[in-house]
Amino acid sequence: MGDHVAAGVAVDVADGRITAVRQDTGALPPGAEALRGLTLPGLANAHSHAFHRALRGAVQVGTGTFWTWREVMYGVADRLTPETYHALARATYAEMALAGITVVGEFHYLHHAPGGTPYADPNAMGEALITAAAEAGIRITLLDTAYLSSGFGQPPNQHQLRFSDGTAEAWAERSSLLKERDHLRIGAAVHSVRAVPAGQLAAVARWAEERRAPLHVHLSEQTAENDACLAAHGCTPTQLLAEHGVLGPRTTGVHNTHLTDQDISLIGSTSTGTCMCPTTERDLADGIGPAAALQRAGSPLSLGSDSHAVIDLLEEARAMELNERLRTRTRGHWTAAALLRAASADGHAALGWDDAGALEPGALADFTTVALDSVRTAGPSPRLAAETAVFAASAADVRHTVVGGRHVVRDGVHTLVPDVPSALAAAVEALRD
Ligand SMILES: [Zn+2]
Repeated sequence: MGDHVAAGVAVDVADGRITAVRQDTGALPPGAEALRGLTLPGLANAHSHAFHRALRGAVQVGTGTFWTWREVMYGVADRLTPETYHALARATYAEMALAGITVVGEFHYLHHAPGGTPYADPNAMGEALITAAAEAGIRITLLDTAYLSSGFGQPPNQHQLRFSDGTAEAWAERSSLLKERDHLRIGAAVHSVRAVPAGQLAAVARWAEERRAPLHVHLSEQTAENDACLAAHGCTPTQLLAEHGVLGPRTTGVHNTHLTDQDISLIGSTSTGTCMCPTTERDLADGIGPAAALQRAGSPLSLGSDSHAVIDLLEEARAMELNERLRTRTRGHWTAAALLRAASADGHAALGWDDAGALEPGALADFTTVALDSVRTAGPSPRLAAETAVFAASAADVRHTVVGGRHVVRDGVHTLVPDVPSALAAAVEALRD
């Protein structure tokens, strides 16, 4: 409750929302269902590319960099259809529900058929993701992504043709056809300063501003992007975004890894958010972003599993703290409660769900329960439940996930997708080269 742990809490739910939170209820109230463990507001996975789930394992052979990894990733992107994407996303989002995730921010740029031909429904791929989230029982913010160029002044390459609408105007026209639903918010994204020409950044920002929608952007994940931006525009990617009106309180920079001190103060002073994806950033050898400095400057933090090397928001949360420990050789940069805030309330806010991420009356009834009696979590005093969950539990310890009052995961079993491992295996197999 609030940011503290309490025992014997009863949560009343009606019409998908929390109506009351009562403490010290003693015996189980009549009609109530017991959730044994630490119940938290649902976790928000603020940055996802669902199709990257098909790369798990396959990208762990051999050597290379982010850029060689990207070639393998493009191989999978080339093969996806609305049908295979739906099956993969449904299974991936079911895996997320099993990990306690109740909302996903899907950074979606795979819009068209290979070669760039629009589907009969120009949003067939986005709709496949929206349906997949509904079937997996979680909420989704579809961050419809503008991806128009391969690099500064370069047209999309053969793989990227299916990502591109040609112009920001055409992107806006297509994404405006998407309509919000109960489980769906629509947001915008600029793929990166590489992928949207500077002259078209303002159009994407304006689209989001008019709708008061979240706007996300991959920002300075790689030093090569900074070098190319400096060569083309004489400034950093953060400065370029600031000049074109992209930064602001509804904007989230994803990664924010290689920043100057001036970049950090620009992001902080505009209240632009930062989404850290520590398991992907370490997997892709990106580097460690200045999360603590960004937060001190005024940037709220959220977390995402991005490439889905693993899907475990508890691991993302502790990795942010542990990265900072390795970098500074000091401990205790965030409390467990602060890390959970990034994994839930601030993640929800970054995705446009201001009415979720808290166990309080009026909030959406989205929550998850982490077992405190597993081999990983048994032992510590119940007073240390949050510390135990953040620093020792894994997604495997998630027992229950409730979304809008619906029990989507009960006792570790998905109630809507009967066999999630088989669904994942079949969906990934269908995309194998
Ligand atoms: Zn990403």
